[in-house]
Amino acid sequence: MKKILFCASLILILGCKATKEVEKIKEIEKIKEVEIVKIEPEKPVIKNVILLIGDGMGLSQVSSSFYFGATEEPNFTRFPYIGLSRTSSASHKVTDSASGAVAFASGIKTYNGAIGMNTRKEHIETIIERVERPDFMTGLVATSSITHATPACFYAHVTYRYKEDSIASYMPKSKVDFFAGGGLRFFNKREDGKDLLPVLSQNGFKVDTTALGKIGTLTTNNKYAYLLADKGLPSKLEGRGDFLPNATKLALDYLSKSKDGFFLMVEGSQIDWEGHASNVQGVVQEVRDFDKALGAALDFAEKDGQTLVVVTADHETGGFALSPMQVRKQWQYDNIQGSFYQNSKSLPSAAHTATLVPVFAYGPMAESFAGIYQNNEIFHKIIKATGW
Ligand SMILES: [Zn+2]
Repeated sequence: MKKILFCASLILILGCKATKEVEKIKEIEKIKEVEIVKIEPEKPVIKNVILLIGDGMGLSQVSSSFYFGATEEPNFTRFPYIGLSRTSSASHKVTDSASGAVAFASGIKTYNGAIGMNTRKEHIETIIERVERPDFMTGLVATSSITHATPACFYAHVTYRYKEDSIASYMPKSKVDFFAGGGLRFFNKREDGKDLLPVLSQNGFKVDTTALGKIGTLTTNNKYAYLLADKGLPSKLEGRGDFLPNATKLALDYLSKSKDGFFLMVEGSQIDWEGHASNVQGVVQEVRDFDKALGAALDFAEKDGQTLVVVTADHETGGFALSPMQVRKQWQYDNIQGSFYQNSKSLPSAAHTATLVPVFAYGPMAESFAGIYQNNEIFHKIIKATGW
């Protein structure tokens, strides 16, 4: 009997012990589970993307903002990740702005002059057309006409960039919610005699041909069209003022009301034009203006925390250099000037070049923009980062 009792209590004790062990193990597993959840890196959430394109902006053009007339550090210094983009098109080593923009807007290399077309001249979906989220919003800002090569590649599909009347016809029914730039004549002084301004209104746009709207007054019930010059806007030197940073701020104020995020493209279009004109002061002023737009984008992204900002160029223009004024007198190397590559016989005016151009990135997944890659990879990096 004693033996039986002893055995029974032993089983009980061992049983209790075993149960306790199991509980302990379970507890440890629970802690482990919690720990695992805690240490697993959180997937960065990107709601919005701002892509800023400095047309014709190579590294020397960027560098000019560090040397000429800047009282504060340029906003370029605020980007933690820098890469280099290889700009050649499918047809030429030296790209034009159209094929350069197709690479960013649609992720493919195409022929020079193409607007939203692949090399077989088939329509190719743009980033603006691709995102299916119901409340997703999009915007385009440029200092050129809104029908010019770079902005056009985000919403139009035309075989050749200079068919700007045809490009404008795509705007009313496009998925663009906000645009600001020039190009009014391609809407209301067209060769076919049509006036697209009422067509824009019928498609939900509030059209203004006089001035940008005021921050805080735009509502998601409307789309907004600001067509503020017949063709391109005036240059900085001609007195454009703060259109580019102001339009960027206005676009962000409006697009940030979107529940499903937004895509905004901002182009500093005239860095390229001043390059073609070999106008050093023009380049310097256009880059500084573009830098202000970067500042607006970065201020927004810093507060928001869910915005990826990418800055790049389609190509460099002019073989721009910051060189000493007098080469032989080394003690005068402190005096630098901007200059353009020109061979008067074969290149009577400054042209696009094949040099790699910088890519600056800020925000979640910005690290994926470090390295050297093809220009169309920028599109794929954005899609991968956002899941669009
Ligand atoms: Zn150009």
